[in-house]
Parts: sequence; C-alpha cells; structure tokens
Amino acid sequence: MEKYYDVIVIGAGHAGCEAAHAAARIGASTLLITMDMNKIAQMSCNPAIGGIAKGQIVREIDALGGAMGHVTDATTIQFRMLNRSKGPAMWSPRAQCDRGKFIWAWREVLENTPNLHIWQDQVRRLIVEDSPGTQGSLAKTRPDAQSPNAETHLEAQSPIAESSSVCSDCVATKTAVGVETYLGMTFRAKSIILTAGTFLNGLMHIGRVKLPGGRCAEPPSLELAESIAQHGIRVARMKTGTPVRIDARSVDFSLMTEQPGDTEGRKFSYYPFSSPASEGAASFGSNKSSYNVIHSTSSLQGVAGESCGLPSLPCWITYTNEAVHERLRAGLPDSPLYNGQIQSIGPRYCPSIETKLVTFPDKDQHQLFLEPEGTNTNEYYLNGFSSSLPIEVQIEALRLIPAFRNLEIYRPGYAIEYDFFDPTQLHHSLESRVISGLFLAGQVNGTTGYEEAAGQGLIAGINAARHCTGQDSLVLQRDQAYIGVLIDDLVCKGVDEPYRMFTSRAEYRILLRQDNADARLTEIGHRMGLASSERLYHYLKKKEEVERIIRFAEDFSVKMGDVNALLEQLGTAPLARGCKLRELLGRPQISIGNLAPALPHLRQLIDTIAERQDEIVEEAEIQIKYSGYIAREVEQAEKMHRLENIRIRGRFDYSTLQSISTEGRQKLTAHDPETLAQASRIPGVSPSDINVLLVLLGR
Ligand SMILES: Cc1cc2nc3c(=O)[nH]c(=O)nc-3n(C[C@H](O)[C@H](O)[C@H](O)COP(=O)(O)OP(=O)(O)OC[C@H]3O[C@@H](n4cnc5c(N)ncnc54)[C@H](O)[C@@H]3O)c2cc1C
Repeated sequence: MEKYYDVIVIGAGHAGCEAAHAAARIGASTLLITMDMNKIAQMSCNPAIGGIAKGQIVREIDALGGAMGHVTDATTIQFRMLNRSKGPAMWSPRAQCDRGKFIWAWREVLENTPNLHIWQDQVRRLIVEDSPGTQGSLAKTRPDAQSPNAETHLEAQSPIAESSSVCSDCVATKTAVGVETYLGMTFRAKSIILTAGTFLNGLMHIGRVKLPGGRCAEPPSLELAESIAQHGIRVARMKTGTPVRIDARSVDFSLMTEQPGDTEGRKFSYYPFSSPASEGAASFGSNKSSYNVIHSTSSLQGVAGESCGLPSLPCWITYTNEAVHERLRAGLPDSPLYNGQIQSIGPRYCPSIETKLVTFPDKDQHQLFLEPEGTNTNEYYLNGFSSSLPIEVQIEALRLIPAFRNLEIYRPGYAIEYDFFDPTQLHHSLESRVISGLFLAGQVNGTTGYEEAAGQGLIAGINAARHCTGQDSLVLQRDQAYIGVLIDDLVCKGVDEPYRMFTSRAEYRILLRQDNADARLTEIGHRMGLASSERLYHYLKKKEEVERIIRFAEDFSVKMGDVNALLEQLGTAPLARGCKLRELLGRPQISIGNLAPALPHLRQLIDTIAERQDEIVEEAEIQIKYSGYIAREVEQAEKMHRLENIRIRGRFDYSTLQSISTEGRQKLTAHDPETLAQASRIPGVSPSDINVLLVLLGR
C-alpha cells in the first residue's frame, strides 16, 4: 500500500514530536511514524525538562509556538529556577515531570493537531532517487495533492530573506522521496525528517550482558541507518547511560535531605494559558490560517498564569560513601566501560558513577538525587548513579547507603551504544547536504538531551514544511537563540562527543536569557505560521507594558526625602540629590518591588498591569539593570552580522589558496561554509585565514 504526504517524520521522540507538530501546524500534511505510540516523547533518562541552558531552549521552543513548554507545564511535579543567585543570563528553569503523564499529554497534543496523522510501525528503509536538480521540482515526487489547505497556506507564507540559508550552488545529487516500513507500507513525501534517537543499531550493555535495543525493552532500528549511509552520509557511534529506578517503599526517606521546589508559581510557557489546545481558539491578527481551532476537551487546560495543578513533590538528597566506592571498584573488571566492551564516546559532563570513581579517585562521596517519576507511582530515578556495571554490583553498592539499606529496584542502570550521522553534512536548515529533502534532528545528529532534540525538531519541522513549496529556510542566528547556537555549532564544528548545551557555548548570553525568549522569537514563530495570533497578541501586550515601565523609570525623578530612609534600610547609600528612577534601579540592592511602597506613582503604575504582573515587572527590571551589558552585546552581534552577510560558498577553490594555513585549507574544503562568519567558527580556521579571505573578497 502506498500513501502520500508533504512531510514524513520518522520517530516520535522529543525531536520527532516537535517536528511533526510544527510541520502540521504550519499546514503541511504530515505523517508521524513511530514504533510504539505508548512511548511517544518517552523520557529515556531522567524525568525532568530544562536545567542550565536547556531551560532557555524550552522557553525558545515555546516562544516559537512549539509544544514542549505546554506539555511540561501540564505535567510538572516540581519546578525550580536554577542559578537564581547569579545574574539573569544564568537563570535556568527546570521542571521535574510526571513521566507517564508527559507521554499522554504529548499524545493529546499530537492527536489533536490538524494535518497530522500518526502511524505505528517501524521504518525499514529510506527511499532515495537521483535528484532532479532543483528543490522546487521535488513536488513532482508526489502525484496528487492530499491537503489542499496545506498547499494554500504554505504558498501564502512570505520568505524570510534575513534568515535564508538555501544554497543555490550546491544541489544534492540524491533526493529522499519516501520510506518503506516493516508492515509493508510505502509512504512518499516531499520532505522526510529522521529523528530516530538512540535506536539506530542500538546495543545495550549491563555488565557483560549485551542486548540489541533502542532503549530498555524496545527493539533497535537495524536497517535504516545503512539505507542512509550507503548514499555517502557519514555514520559513527556514541554511547550514553542511565541509572537504576528504585521502589520508594524500600527507601528510608528520614535518612535523606528533602529538596522542595520553588514556591512561586512559575512555568515554562509564555502563553498565559497552560494548554496548547486552547492556543489558537480565537484570532486576533492576520495569521488566521496558521492553526485551525481545536475544540478539545483537553485535560491539559489550565488557568491563566498558573501551572498544571499536579501536586508539587520534593526530591531527596543523599551521598555515596567509601564502602559504596569499594564495592563499585571491585566490579570494574565487569564494567563494559573499562573492559573494552564499549568503545564509543559518551557524554563527559554526565559521567557514570564508575567513571566518577576512576576520574576523581580522591573524592570520598558523590551527591545523589532521588527524584520522583510521577504522582501515582512508587518509581524513583536516582540521578547521579548512571551505571552499566552488573546488576548485582549496582544493587549491592547502593545497599551500603543508609537510606537504601533495604533497597529494591524496578530496573537496573544500563549503557547504550548507537549510530549517529556527521552533522557537518547538514545545511543550517537541518536538511542533508548529501540527500536533498532529508532533514535530520535530535540524537541522530550527535546531540544528547530532550531539549536539544526538541529544538532541532522544531526547526527541522518548520524547514521541511517550507521545503515542500520551495520557501527559504528559517535559520536562527547565534544572537537570536540557543537553538541557533546549537545548530551552528553542529554544522560548523561537528561533534566528537555527545553535544549538550551549556551557557558557555553562547557568546551572547546576556541577549539569550530565559526571560526574553518571547521577545526574541514570538514574531518569528508567528511569521512561520506556528505561533498563534493569540500568542502574538499576549506577547505584544506584555511588550507594551514592559516599555511603559521602562519609560516611566527614565522620566520619573526620585526625591531624596521619598527614598533615603528606605535606602538606608536596604543597606545602600542615601541619595545626595534627586535622580531618575532608572539610575536608582541600577543599584544591586534595589528592585522595583522594594521601591514601590515608597513611591506611590510607581505603585499605581504597577497596579494598572492586569495580567502577568510579576513577569512584566521582572522583565522591565532586567532590561533596566542590565541595559549597559545588553547594549554591548548587541554591538558585538552587529559586528558579527557583517561577516554573517558575506557569502563565500562556491566562491573559492580553497585547495589553491597558498596564503591560507594548511589546516585552514583542509577544514574549509571539508566544511565548505556558507558565510565568512561560519568559516571563522570552524576549528582550525585561524583569524589570519579569515583576513586572507577578506582581502581576496576585496574588503
Ligand atoms: C539509556 C539512555 C540514557 C540517556 N541518558 C541521558 C542523559 O543522561 N542526559 C541526556 O541529556 N540525555 C540522555 N539520553 C538521551 C535522551 O534520551 C535523548 O537525547 C533524547 O531522547 C533524544 O531525543 P530524540 O527525539 O532524538 O530521540 P528519542 O527520544 O530516542 O526518540 C526516538 C524515537 O524514534 C523512534 N524510532 C526509532 N527508529 C525508528 C524507526 N525505524 N521507525 C519508527 N520509529 C523509530 C523510537 O521509537 C522513538 O520514539 C539518554 C538516552 C538513553 C536511551
């Protein structure tokens, strides 16, 4: 049986869900094929979304109109804003989620997304044909028009000139046109997105036991990677691991330290209502066709400004000790990481407990977090104890921790090796440079983490849909989004270990804050047809209120008599003369909140903000306090944009440029960067190589 779509997404993990949701919501008729519908958006490792730098990515996904923020809010059992003691560039939201409800919340979103069909099956092979030459002609691979709405809407989108990355000079000689499945189905499409995660030739390890699998109790995907690699896409191996899951009834919680969540009701989504199903229900602007109204009796529906309403559950802290370490060390000869069984590279920053012992032999304890998996389960996740040691070693070692004396586990920790594809063979749109019409997102590009996968999935979904009608791709810049940094790093630098996002990877951290992702991306998401008109409306209202506060702070003169007593109370010098409110807010001890009781006009202004008062005041305050740093980064970003605008692909035969270093020549030939800015970020290309190119370009 053969069927036709605009976009096919292989795999419903975190990348696949966002990709399918985005493509369908934009208007492309989309098919999501996944092995097991009951494992949609399964969190393979810890049941938590966000964290340092990752939380910023989730906020960006949400601002663009993706669903991860909504789903997280609907299933949160503990929310914390990490790094609150540091500057706002470092604040990072993190939510512990109910693992089971997260899956069902995603299913509900996907099952109610117009233009989206789900098919439970396993893809065996990618169908690839010789390329007819141009992108537009891909439409010929599909004989009928399945989705008239989709076509109309896709054609109505305006190209985004500033973010175009389509390379007219380099046409892939192959084109992906469809997939074949194990159930004997053939599906054809104009764009295909591969998001198969850790499943490609997955091999699990527990001690000396080796089991083929994509994840615990799930089969691997065995033939698919070969069907792609045979066309010249480079493939390599990586590994990752996960800890034991514990039965809470066997734990003595009185011997651990409780770690509660934040008490303020924060959430991930900027949209004031917690449900993606309610987003798009009314129309305020021009983009009416972007999201058909869903009349869902959604269990996700929430209340403005509040999170989902699941009870907040604490996490628990305990430590390993010398006796535990001794037992683990005795098991090392059976560790697949240390007996040669596993050869591939794992995530350095997320080491197994055995790696921690070997790397830090002097440490006499390691911190462990016991994290609940949900509201109606006894299953707990032991963060910090990832291991692929034999099952008996894992259990015996843990029983040497007082709180775990009587420990029973549901599942052991294990490691997994899997295939990924070299991301330097991608365009910034996430389309393959080797096989046109094939987009790759998530773990298959060498990244690790749900958020990194989802961010790529969203971009792949948008661009795969736009590819169907030959529209320019959306490419986010490094000063626009962590997602932009992530994709640019993958494409320009490649990966030699599982890539996860850190704040240190972003050179414009003050611009890429978790509080302002809506300001950076909502309008772009709306232009793409993804962020609803209501979302845009709420963002514009917020922007107006923030600007009102900033204007007030610039204009309002503070008199000494009004504030000096308060300033002394707050431990900061009294005013020697009057000053503008903005100047006073520059002091670290001073906030709008603590000045408001002394300044009735300021209080009145704040009281006129009807919705999301705290969020708006906080945003205005950050902008006022950090205006100097923000202006400096904007200036630096503008300088980089000048290089970003100089297109070099196809303009040089690098091998003949003797004035460039040998390494620079090799790297430039291998990567063939699109712009001079991208060239400057390739490891091995020196600033003097860039200067030579500038001279040759006559600049
Ligand atoms: C054991 C383990 C430990 C991990 N530990 C960590 C960690 O410590 N920290 C961290 O950040 N990340 C960790 N991860 C990685 C994290 O789970 C992934 O980064 C994230 O899930 C990647 O999302 P994805 O969408 O790319 O793929 P996945 O979430 O893996 O989803 C892939 C989807 O594709 C489907 N699929 C695969 N092949 C086919 C096919 N041929 N046909 C149809 N469907 C297919 C699967 O059924 C699945 O739904 C771990 C993963 C595993 C398995």
